Amino acid sequence: MTRTDYFSMKFSPIFLTSTSISATSLTWAVLCLAITTFLGTSFAAQAGGPELKVNAERIEQHILALAEFGKNPEGGVSRVAFSEADIAGRKYIIGLMETAGLKVRVDTAGNLIGRRGGTENLPVIMFGSHSDSVPGGGNYDGDVGVMGAIEVAQVLNENGINTRHPLEVVVFVDEEGGLVGSRAMTGELSGPALGVISHSGLTIEEGIRVLGGNPERLDEARREPDELAAFVELHIEQGAILDDGDIDIGVVEGIVGIQWWDVTIEGSANHAGTTPMHKRNDALLAAAELIQAINQVITSEPGTQVGTVGRISATPGAPNVIPGKVVMSLEIRDLSAEKITRLYRQIRAEAASIEKRYKTPISFQHLDVDAVPAPTDKRVRAIIAGAAESLGLSYIAMPSGAGHDAQDMAQIAPTGMIFVPSVGGISHSPREFTYPRDMANGANVLLKTILRIDESGLGKSS
Ligand SMILES: [Zn+2]
Repeated sequence: MTRTDYFSMKFSPIFLTSTSISATSLTWAVLCLAITTFLGTSFAAQAGGPELKVNAERIEQHILALAEFGKNPEGGVSRVAFSEADIAGRKYIIGLMETAGLKVRVDTAGNLIGRRGGTENLPVIMFGSHSDSVPGGGNYDGDVGVMGAIEVAQVLNENGINTRHPLEVVVFVDEEGGLVGSRAMTGELSGPALGVISHSGLTIEEGIRVLGGNPERLDEARREPDELAAFVELHIEQGAILDDGDIDIGVVEGIVGIQWWDVTIEGSANHAGTTPMHKRNDALLAAAELIQAINQVITSEPGTQVGTVGRISATPGAPNVIPGKVVMSLEIRDLSAEKITRLYRQIRAEAASIEKRYKTPISFQHLDVDAVPAPTDKRVRAIIAGAAESLGLSYIAMPSGAGHDAQDMAQIAPTGMIFVPSVGGISHSPREFTYPRDMANGANVLLKTILRIDESGLGKSS
């Protein structure tokens, strides 16, 4: 019975009249009390009231059990997509989904989907994450979102709560290899991407087959915007903002855009012993100044933008030769594409001045690996913040500096992301750790968020 049914029962004049005629005043009072209690409990449960909570211990048990699949000596996992460990881990997850009352299928891209019907003919509320890891990864990245989502389904099941919308718990395939599962859902997994060799040694195409998908019918994995009411992903932060600030929940404003360039600095190689200092075109010296300038530009204005030079090579690369050429990388990330462009222009201006001073031409080559910023849905953000608040949890709005399946899903569904703290901000490492209490907090926020979206929808699109 849905919440609407309770309301119509409560306010139905026929129901009240027939009861009051046949009942004595005492039994009427008892009946009223019983109805009120019954209504109160169910209403609170439907609204995700205080008594409806996830089971923190069970989430922890499931996380530890999943960590057995692909476990490495360092205490983490190497459960790369399509590996034996991935296949075994997914089998374990399918079992948990079925126990939680979900009807499980594998879509043609290999995504695991556990479905729970709704009481009305409405679009799906989807939530979940991924269970594959990087080589030498940890036990929380992706896994917390998967186990949190299954826990939500199980709690609804145990409490006999039916939602108006159908719910789908999703475990995306090969997130770490380039958001393969979510790209298939948005229809962006193309032919060339299928030929890429994954960490397992199999191509993506072979891997999808191994997981029970069908690469020839990939378009069937595609989801249309009118099929989805919302998508919500619970995930560990993988940074230290929440942990440093002792904050329970991060309400993700969006997944940052990423742009990459190769920067080439041309000097002239010459004898390091016979060329006086004032006669040099030292490409590495110019590069050193440019790296400083990049750092200054990025930190010159408030915000969460980041800029990095992560790779550098100087040639010819000998102790007794002045570096004649340097090639280095430049990466900028931010929630605003406009800001990335603005910062990049300032860096170009700095480079032009360095180039003049050192007589070393500097050129920038834009690389085609960038990701556009993916803002989350304002309405879903508000619901997540409200859920955290009603649970008495502290929260802040923050960007995600790492990529997630949610960035693809944001193209086809109103999307939200819930972050929980990573101890020390460590991730993609066996030392990755999130406290059971924090996982449960995140799952409780997810539970409330799903119920609130289900109750009233998202209202007007902004
Ligand atoms: Zn992840």
